[in-house]
Amino acid sequence: MHINDILNGKGTSFSFEFFPPKTEQASEKLFDTIKELEAHRPSFVSITYGAGGSTRELTHDLVLRIKNTTSLNPIPHLTCVCHSEEDIAEILTRYAGEGVANILALRGDPPRDQPGHDHSGAPFQYAGQLVNAIKQFNNSGTHPDQRGFGIGVAGFPEGHPATPNRIQELDYLKWKVDQGADYICTQMFFDNHDFLDFRDRCRLAGITIPIIAGIMPIHSLEGMKRMAELAAGARFPAPLIAALEKATDKHETVREIGINYATEQCAKLLDNDVDGIHFYTLNKSDATRRILNNLEPRLSTS
Ligand SMILES: Cc1cc2nc3c(=O)[nH]c(=O)nc-3n(C[C@H](O)[C@H](O)[C@H](O)COP(=O)(O)OP(=O)(O)OC[C@H]3O[C@@H](n4cnc5c(N)ncnc54)[C@H](O)[C@@H]3O)c2cc1C
Repeated sequence: MHINDILNGKGTSFSFEFFPPKTEQASEKLFDTIKELEAHRPSFVSITYGAGGSTRELTHDLVLRIKNTTSLNPIPHLTCVCHSEEDIAEILTRYAGEGVANILALRGDPPRDQPGHDHSGAPFQYAGQLVNAIKQFNNSGTHPDQRGFGIGVAGFPEGHPATPNRIQELDYLKWKVDQGADYICTQMFFDNHDFLDFRDRCRLAGITIPIIAGIMPIHSLEGMKRMAELAAGARFPAPLIAALEKATDKHETVREIGINYATEQCAKLLDNDVDGIHFYTLNKSDATRRILNNLEPRLSTS
């Protein structure tokens, strides 16, 4: 289903992110997770893509399996860094032929094992160029939906490390959206003020498309450090750190704190009429299910 049909006028959307597992066993485990989460009837689920194409087939196969064997709407992520125009056209043509309705268009980060790799001559330097390429593909009429792919892009409530100037950041985001994006999904954040201020600044910049909030429940202290590393820095507010420091049992209590904290974050986002909440599940169902169950009284009335 096209993202505009999913998001338009239906209250707050709920969605889940998965990454494609590398082994058969992990794949089957993920499908147990997906089946458990399917009962919550998410608006869509999204599947990550290894920048440079490292999970090209795995992402594709997982998207197709979800599309063909569940009731869920899978949205593939697609990163453009290190891809040629032909690669992108090939990937889009294949997804269009299979009736995949939407794409999350990203730049991705150049592989870490090629720190000196020069991408200055590459056709895709920024996600906005990928959005533009998808829009051109949409205009070709190849996609079975005459609107073509619905297009999502990333947003960064805490800022993106490559653009410390937060005024310029919004200019770049506006440019990216103007290439033809239908929604923004944000990077994880742990302080709602960062998200609400980001949303206000987007609206002031004339960005009117839905902005979906990315929420990552903390599962463990090690996971929290890894997340910060992957996101190139994440701001953990002092009250959250204080609660985690007091945790007597570093495993169970930390998980409980993570679930309660994310529940509170979501409740406050709902109070602020958020367009959507996207859970970074890390391929696990438990924390997300518990948060959704905690929110259930709110959801049935919103
Ligand atoms: C919701 C979400 C999902 C993600 N999924 C994946 C995934 O599946 N796989 C993966 O590898 N990574 C993923 N990422 C990470 C993402 O690829 C990186 O954070 C990357 O560094 C930025 O991607 P982007 O699409 O925002 O890039 P861009 O929008 O291109 O922005 C990258 C940087 O360039 C700047 N910029 C943008 N346009 C211009 C311009 N015209 N001129 C100069 N500077 C400009 C921006 O301000 C920013 O600092 C995801 C991130 C989010 C938030």
